Amino acid sequence: METKELDLWFTEEHSKEAKFSIKVLKQLHSVQSPFQKIDILESKEFGRFFTLDGYMMVTEKDEFIYHEMIVHVAMATNPAIKRVLVIGAGDGGTVRELTRYDTVEHIDMVEIDKMVVEVCKEYLPQTACRLNDSRVHLHFEDGLRYIRSKEDAYDLIIVDSTDPFGPGEGLFTKEFYGNCYKALTNDGILVNQHENAYYTSYAQSMRRAHCRIVNLFPICKVYQAHIPTYPSGHWLFGFASKKYDPVKDLDAEAWNRLGIDTRYYNTELHRGCFALPTYINQILERDS
Ligand code: SAM
Repeated sequence: METKELDLWFTEEHSKEAKFSIKVLKQLHSVQSPFQKIDILESKEFGRFFTLDGYMMVTEKDEFIYHEMIVHVAMATNPAIKRVLVIGAGDGGTVRELTRYDTVEHIDMVEIDKMVVEVCKEYLPQTACRLNDSRVHLHFEDGLRYIRSKEDAYDLIIVDSTDPFGPGEGLFTKEFYGNCYKALTNDGILVNQHENAYYTSYAQSMRRAHCRIVNLFPICKVYQAHIPTYPSGHWLFGFASKKYDPVKDLDAEAWNRLGIDTRYYNTELHRGCFALPTYINQILERDS
């Protein structure tokens, strides 16, 4: 009898009326941690991918876009960044990009779920490959709690969190952003993953977070990237800063001299990614 391939698909609801699916070759791992369900799946189109509670986190094929954009925009704006705090980011992709800078001296990574790091080290070596760098210090605790006691301690904070529900909820609050401000040096930069603006529920969270950050930081911008496996394929990042403007202060030549080999980020794109579509500007500028 002819063998028939199983028709297995991963499906994520991007809105009540829209779903995104990837054909799955096999499930490699599935475990319930004290915080969330961790799954690793294999696919032909996106390679290996990792989900938390059924939400897409990282795929081998497009993770470079997210991780390059969450790191290099800030690093190119202020090449003197030495001390970095990363919150969330258990897959290791953000730390991998940061460790490409010899000038970075110290990275604290605060991930609430130790099992995410263990699973990613085993199944996603592409992203988890630099977590053993001697500059990286791992802390397994809630980022909201960790940051409360920090003052004038970091040149850059990157919030690479899950969405604003479940364990990630506290990382989108006024209290958290206020503590980020306090934890940053007087020329510090805060970058956070900012959801998308296309689907209403995500757009509302993005706007809420943006309004909270605008009230604290003198410079507050939003930039964009194309990430095929995230809801709407169009992802936003928040850039908040006490001193540096990401477009005016970019020294493109200085960054290009570093010779960092990227596949998505470049200094032309750096300038362009802050030019947002009109409907997003309108959401950001709305009074209420
Ligand atoms: N790139 C991903 C995305 O936007 O879909 C996010 C990547 S990373 C896997 C997100 C991590 O944030 C998860 O591993 C999760 O455990 C961690 N996290 C969620 N809430 C947290 C908190 N309060 N403190 C520290 N880490 C947290």
